Amino acid sequence: MAAQLLDGKALSQQVEMELKVRVDALLKQGQVPGLCVILVGEDPASQLYVGNKEKACNRLGINSRTIRMPADSTQEQLDEEIKKVNADPSIHGLLVQFPLPAHLNASRAQTLILPEKDADGLHDINTGKMMRGETAPIACTPKGALYMLKSANIPIEGKHAVVVGRSSIVGRPMAMLLLRENATVTICHSRTRNLGDYTRQADILVAAIGKPGFITADMVKEGATVIDVGMNRVDGKFCGDVDFDAVKEKAAYITPVPGGVGRMTVAMLMSNTVEAAEKAFAG
Ligand code: NDP
Repeated sequence: MAAQLLDGKALSQQVEMELKVRVDALLKQGQVPGLCVILVGEDPASQLYVGNKEKACNRLGINSRTIRMPADSTQEQLDEEIKKVNADPSIHGLLVQFPLPAHLNASRAQTLILPEKDADGLHDINTGKMMRGETAPIACTPKGALYMLKSANIPIEGKHAVVVGRSSIVGRPMAMLLLRENATVTICHSRTRNLGDYTRQADILVAAIGKPGFITADMVKEGATVIDVGMNRVDGKFCGDVDFDAVKEKAAYITPVPGGVGRMTVAMLMSNTVEAAEKAFAG
C-alpha cells in the first residue's frame, strides 16, 4: 500500500495562517516584527532560499531585510554587520545564510548573533537550552520535521527513531528533539557500519545526508514513517535523500521533496521570528 504523504506545502500554509493572526495583532498596535538575513556571496541555492524567506515575510506582514555582502567580505565586516543588526530594535530575528564562503567562520557568526534574535535557533546558548529541555528558539528544519510528525498524530514516545546525519543544523538537533519526545534514538553517520541494520529498525526514519536517493526501499521497515530532509539538485530538479518512488510503497508516511520539510523550515523561521518579536514587544 502506498504511503500517506506528509504534505509540507499544505501544513506550512496552515502554520502561516495561524502566524498571520499573531502578526496582525502586533501590527494593530503599531508593532512590526522584523527579520534580517545576511547573505554573503552569490551561492545560487542560498539566493533561492533567501528569496523564499523574503516572500514568506511579505505574505505575513513581517518587515524583511536582506543584507547582501560580497563573497570576499572579511570576518570583521561580517561581524560589524551582525553587531549593527543586533543593536537595531526594528529587527527581532537575524540569521546568517549558510554556507558562508570558506574563509569565514560560521560558528563565530552564529554566536555573535544575540541569542534572543537567533531566528535559526543555532546559537550555542539556544542549542544548550534545547538540550536541557528549556524554552528557546529551535533549529528550523528539525522543528519543522517534528511539527509534521505531531500534526499527523504519529506516535513518537517509545518508538525507535533513527536519524541518518549528525550535522549541527539538522541531524543532531533532530535527534535531540526526538529524544525530548521520548523516542529511543539512534544517530547514524558516514562511519556507521552496516547502516541498513539500523535504518531497518526505525519506526521513524529521518534522512539528513545530502545524497540523492541514498535511502532505498530495502533499508526501510514496512510501515515506517520516513522524513526526508535532503535537498539535492539533480539535472536542475530538487530531490531528497530517499528513493521516494520505491520507499513510498513500503512506508506508512513519507515526506515529498520538494513540498515537504523544506516548506516547514521556512514556516518555522517565521514562527521563531514572530515569537521573538512578541517577546521583544512584551518587554
Ligand atoms: P551535512 O553535509 O552537514 O551533513 C551530512 C550528514 O550525513 C553528515 O553527518 C554525514 O556524516 C552524513 N553522511 C554522509 N554520507 C553518509 C553515508 N554514506 N552514510 C551515512 N551518513 C552519511 O548536511 P546537512 O545536515 O546540512 O544537510 C543534509 C541534507 O539536508 C542536505 O541535502 C541539505 O541540502 C538538506 N537540508 C535541507 C533543509 C530543508 O529545509 N529541507 C535544511 C538544511 C539542510 P559525517 O558526519 O560522518 O560526515
